[in-house]
Amino acid sequence: MPQRTGSCLCGALSYQIDGEIDGVWMCHCSNCRKASGSTGNAIVIVKRENFTWLSGEDHRVTFALRPTYTITRCKSCGTPLPAEEDDSNVYLTAGTLDDPIDVGIKTRIFCASRADWDFDAEGARHYDERSS
Ligand SMILES: [Zn+2]
Ligand SMILES: [Zn+2]
Repeated sequence: MPQRTGSCLCGALSYQIDGEIDGVWMCHCSNCRKASGSTGNAIVIVKRENFTWLSGEDHRVTFALRPTYTITRCKSCGTPLPAEEDDSNVYLTAGTLDDPIDVGIKTRIFCASRADWDFDAEGARHYDERSS
C-alpha cells in the first residue's frame, strides 16, 4: 500500500496517508477562495483510518467559519492543513503533500464561483523558477 507524507511550511505539522488517491478535487467556492487567498482549495480526500498525524498535532488551530465550513491551520506558520474533517474523511490541502501522487485534478466544483482571473492571460509568461 503506498504511503505518502505531507507537512506545513514550518515543518511543525506532518502527516502520513496510506492507500491510493482517487484524484484531486478543486473547489472554487467563495469560502475556499477567501480561505486560500487564491483560486480555491485543491483537496485530496482520505479515509480517516488512512490518515495519521506524525507530528505537531498540538500546533493545530481550527477556525469554524460556518457550521459546515472549518479550516485548520498550523499556529506557527498558518499553513491550512487539513482543510476540513468529518466522521469518515479528512479533506487534505493537496499543496501540503511532500510526495508525488501521480494523478491530477479530476473534479472541479463551484465553477460558477471561479475567479474571473483564473486562467492564463494571452502571452502569459512561465518560469521554472522565480523570474529575475
Ligand atoms: Zn507550520
Ligand atoms: Zn470550497
